[in-house]
Amino acid sequence: MTLTGQLLIGSRTVTGNGEIIHAINPATNTPLAPDYPGGDASHVDQACALASAAFDSFREIAPAERALFLECIANEIEALGDQLIERAVAESGLPLARIQGERGRTCQQLRLFATVLRKGEWLDVRIDPALPQRQPMPRSDLRQRQVPLGPVVVFGASNFPLAFSVAGGDTASAFAAGCPVIVKAHSAHPGTSELVGHAIARAVKNCGLPEGVFSLLYGSGREVGTALVSDPRIKAVGFTGSRSGGLALSKAAQARRDPIPVYAEMSSINPVLLFPSALQTRAEALAQGFVTSLTQGAGQFCTNPGLIIAQQGPDLERFISSAGELIKRIPTQTMLTPGIFHAYQHGVSQLKANPKAQLIAAGLSSEAPNQCQAHLFSTSAEDFLRDENLQAEVFGSASLLVQCRDAEEVRKVCEHLEGQLTATLHLDADDLPLAQTLLPTLERKAGRLLVNGWPTGVEVCEAMVHGGPFPATSDVRSTSVGTAAIQRFLRPVCYQDFPDDLLPTALRHDNPMHLRRLLDGQREA
Ligand code: NAP
Repeated sequence: MTLTGQLLIGSRTVTGNGEIIHAINPATNTPLAPDYPGGDASHVDQACALASAAFDSFREIAPAERALFLECIANEIEALGDQLIERAVAESGLPLARIQGERGRTCQQLRLFATVLRKGEWLDVRIDPALPQRQPMPRSDLRQRQVPLGPVVVFGASNFPLAFSVAGGDTASAFAAGCPVIVKAHSAHPGTSELVGHAIARAVKNCGLPEGVFSLLYGSGREVGTALVSDPRIKAVGFTGSRSGGLALSKAAQARRDPIPVYAEMSSINPVLLFPSALQTRAEALAQGFVTSLTQGAGQFCTNPGLIIAQQGPDLERFISSAGELIKRIPTQTMLTPGIFHAYQHGVSQLKANPKAQLIAAGLSSEAPNQCQAHLFSTSAEDFLRDENLQAEVFGSASLLVQCRDAEEVRKVCEHLEGQLTATLHLDADDLPLAQTLLPTLERKAGRLLVNGWPTGVEVCEAMVHGGPFPATSDVRSTSVGTAAIQRFLRPVCYQDFPDDLLPTALRHDNPMHLRRLLDGQREA
């Protein structure tokens, strides 16, 4: 397919007339053709009008048909072949194998939501049949199901140009729920976005769905993104990116006449606790695991281990020395964009200039453009508790070790943490009593707790939680990875005393969809 740089508004391709976006190959700092002129207010209006018009029919098609649509998108993405892989590599600087893996994850995610749709449990049907003889008051017939919120705006993430972008997790879960989607493409990978956008548009057409089910707009987040979030026809937002971007869009959503939910995944430093016995038995292995996790993908993961917490002593010294030696040998890696590289450089220079942080080790350096040099710093618990700047996310392969005098300081540091996507515990049997005392704090702080693993690598499955208290996300009640993500785009509606013919199919008396309903308080077999 020839890239055109055009917006996709329903089934139409349109040349934008806003500020031009150029993709840049971060490995060489060279621009990539074509130009991507951004959209304007009229494009936002057209996309929202089409999405709104498509909503009522898209949401009521049989779940099995929406499942076919998701599978069709996956097939169309695979059919893009090497062109998609090559463009995503050029626009992101990520290695070929990583992008190939990410394409697999993207398609698997879409197909997983297709199985969710076919099972029907997402409808969460609850029925309390009428009790006309009940005293002192009869009970009406009450039936509940989940319905989609309405058109959703998705902001593609820079660090997952496939799995968290145009056809990524937010789009897959919104489509599964029955919501039309308008994507504001990330300006770092417009060509990848165009290819995937056309794959979705083909799936819309092949499945005979209304064209407004999907649109793709380029343009500045402050203009096009804010206009989309402020449009009254939009009913929810999915976002992954910076804390400032997520907060600005949440503010725009709250300023509407009808505020809407914004599911923004923003900032997390993912504390890793090294317990005394685990350090004693395997300090060197822990250092190896930590450095691998820290430096994978130039540290550009929301679950990157940016904070290590441990008690001082000879075993921690072994960990420090081992991790330091390993980091010194780590080559640089290309970062996603010049902007992300500069933000990383700034974050590292802030730590270097902070008298409360000491540099343990830095990786190899390079003169090539946009290179991430790994860094490990150390501070005391006392200083960490005093200086909020030490909790700031440095997006990339940088981490801070917080050295505690005793278990009480470990507890204080954990209590002081902001909300996190993950918290990791490295422990042995002897560490269990201490871990037990910290669990209530960690459960309040993080969405996923791990034992003896590393937080990078997020499984797409039923039980996953990729969320957490602010600033990890703007809405602590949900996950953006895994099948539970569908719930973000649904809301319950109750039907009271409806004649059977007027009820939605899922709620009819003879249960034509064979759902496992909650009938009079009992789950059906
Ligand atoms: P970003 O700057 O937040 O951009 C993400 C999206 O939000 C883009 O489409 C952007 O539009 C839009 N946007 C940004 N600020 C906005 C605002 N004030 N109002 C409206 N829309 C806005 O994120 P990024 O470019 O991916 O990376 C920048 C930094 O974000 C990184 O250095 C890192 O600190 C953080 N980040 C964190 C994670 C994580 O998972 N925790 C992931 C990625 C990035 P434009 O196209 O105009 O830029």
